[in-house]
Amino acid sequence: MIDLHAHLDLYPNPKRVVAECVARRMYVLSVTNTPSAWPETARLAEGADRIRTAIGLHPQLAHLRRFELSLFDRHLLETRYVGEIGLDGAPEFKRYWEDQVAVFRHILAACSKVGGRIMTIHSRRAAGAVLDELCEHPGAGVPILHWFSGSKRELERAISQGCWFSVGPAMLLSKKSRDLVRLMPIERTLTETDGPFAQVEGAQAWPWDVGKAISALAPIWNFSEAQATDKLLANLRQLVAHAKNFELPRQSCDPGLT
Ligand code: MN
Repeated sequence: MIDLHAHLDLYPNPKRVVAECVARRMYVLSVTNTPSAWPETARLAEGADRIRTAIGLHPQLAHLRRFELSLFDRHLLETRYVGEIGLDGAPEFKRYWEDQVAVFRHILAACSKVGGRIMTIHSRRAAGAVLDELCEHPGAGVPILHWFSGSKRELERAISQGCWFSVGPAMLLSKKSRDLVRLMPIERTLTETDGPFAQVEGAQAWPWDVGKAISALAPIWNFSEAQATDKLLANLRQLVAHAKNFELPRQSCDPGLT
């Protein structure tokens, strides 16, 4: 099972969640909301071969943590994965739009400069603007739109711009979202939970709740659950193959996701 967008550091007991992910042999992309959270969050995954840690600066925190961009640049050299980043156009965050755009642009330019990264991107009520920025930074890497909730037209544009998508159990409960998922290219779709923020059946989502996303995806794809599980793993391998092309970092070796 694959959770391509989880905030492992924000669970009440992150170490136990990591241990459970390891026991279940889950592939997890552990995202961070601030550059200062990166070192400790990366340490959580030490020795866990299937967990990768992404460095991010969440758009909802852009106005508060813009000063951490230099820290972002520093840690960017230590990982092939970036997130959570993006833009949020909801009314409560729209007033910080300038900060959000400045931070997102800085990050995309930094990713381009280091040769590209795998990026997990938030685009709530801002899909068009996110896609505009991605167009301006074609060398930034592989964009994965997490929990995409834009319009059909924006989705078509995202597909044509080469975006990938990660979809979770909470998202798949809504018919509107399922209709969008049906249009997403199967070979560019992965699963996520966005735990612990997202809710599944009234409780905070755990990374292993992606099983419920697989159950929802299988009928959309006309696959059995086993086929869907295999396909998701094949997709992940493709994604990681992209990442291998990115120049790395200081670490001398990277065991990869095999
Ligand atoms: Mn998130």
